[in-house]
Amino acid sequence: MRLFGTSGIRGKFKEKLTASLALNVGKAIATYLKGEGEVIVGYDPRTSSQLIENALSAGLMEGGCDIIKIGMVPTPLVGYATPKLKAKAGVMITASHNPPEYNGIKVWNHNGMAYSPAQEKEIERIIQEKDYITVDWDNLGSSEHLNITKMYMEDVIEHVKVKAGLKVVVDCGCGAASYITPAILRMVGCEVLSLNCQPDGFFPGRDPEPTPENLKDLMDVVKVSGADLGIAHDGDADRMVAVDEKGRFADFDKLLTLIAREKGGKIITTVDASISLDECLKEVDGEVIRTKVGDVHVAEALIREGGSFGGEPSGTWLHPEFSLSPDGIFSALKLIEIVSEKGPLSKLLDEIPSYYNIRDKIPCPDTKKDNVMEKVKEQLPQQFTEKIQIDNIDGVRISLEDNSWVLIRPSGTESYIRVRIEAKREETARKLHNISRSFIEKTIRGL
Ligand code: MG
Repeated sequence: MRLFGTSGIRGKFKEKLTASLALNVGKAIATYLKGEGEVIVGYDPRTSSQLIENALSAGLMEGGCDIIKIGMVPTPLVGYATPKLKAKAGVMITASHNPPEYNGIKVWNHNGMAYSPAQEKEIERIIQEKDYITVDWDNLGSSEHLNITKMYMEDVIEHVKVKAGLKVVVDCGCGAASYITPAILRMVGCEVLSLNCQPDGFFPGRDPEPTPENLKDLMDVVKVSGADLGIAHDGDADRMVAVDEKGRFADFDKLLTLIAREKGGKIITTVDASISLDECLKEVDGEVIRTKVGDVHVAEALIREGGSFGGEPSGTWLHPEFSLSPDGIFSALKLIEIVSEKGPLSKLLDEIPSYYNIRDKIPCPDTKKDNVMEKVKEQLPQQFTEKIQIDNIDGVRISLEDNSWVLIRPSGTESYIRVRIEAKREETARKLHNISRSFIEKTIRGL
């Protein structure tokens, strides 16, 4: 059985996530680390989180690792604390934006970068083969509690220059950042109105996924209160989304472009990001490098290429000058810094060109996905009469000379083939969509 998915181990409590699995994951991480060094452990406010944290910690200690429990914290604090405290690894217990009955385990390297798929595979192998090392009574790991919130907040503030006086509405969705984001914004001189900022594992305020549908209250409050902007996180606050002063949900691609343009230099993003990023970056002599979808790939490319900023159009932003882990709180401060200098946010967003987009998903049995993608790679390019460019970084991305493009990828978690199209003209987008969709449907039927 595969334990790790696209973002660590994730599943429903009792069905996939159990105390015994957490114990084994703890033992496997300790084995992987040869029982040496310290491991940071944090958890989100889910009802099952402390139970999993205790079981996982027991496994780590049984394998000889010392643990530093940093308590109920947002995910980015684990990515931050691990290198800061010179720990060997960091572990976060969270299911991010998933419903309350879910939970998960995500692991970080000593440098604050999430475990790569190869490292996760090794943890999985140790568990499957029960290849654990355990130590005797005189070598067991120790456990201590440490509150790193103050250190983190002070460090974030040192990295931003926010002019005081903005009015900001914050919606933490009753998630892990509830005590931090409103507090840090007040520390930099913002007037803060908070929504759903009491941590609660039942997520009574709203669904933990920060989609426009789930953020209606935030949009309304921003508008009626005359705030300058609204900020929201997912359940564990590694993501940040924004609402402009008119109460409009900020498009992810535009937000990515806005922050990237401020930073300049080499910008790392994923294959599904808008071409408007490339066009706006040209104006500031920036460069865009695309990777596979997933924050680990973005972090790896940030190191390899010496990037200045990494982002995925899902509200996931990486600021390498601070941390190699996506950080929704740091990102909120960065955005507020930009708005405080150059706002209003609506104007900044409206200045960025937007193109015609189509997002489609075509039902496809999991067993056929690989074959369909093979055929897409081999035969779909022949369906186009114009000159095209093809790249296979992640799925198949075909771009035309006028910069319009189509991206075809199998879904990692559901039985679909995903199609994303972007074009300057609606007519081109529809044409690309028709060609791609009919080819994929015909291929699925023929297999
Ligand atoms: Mg998350």
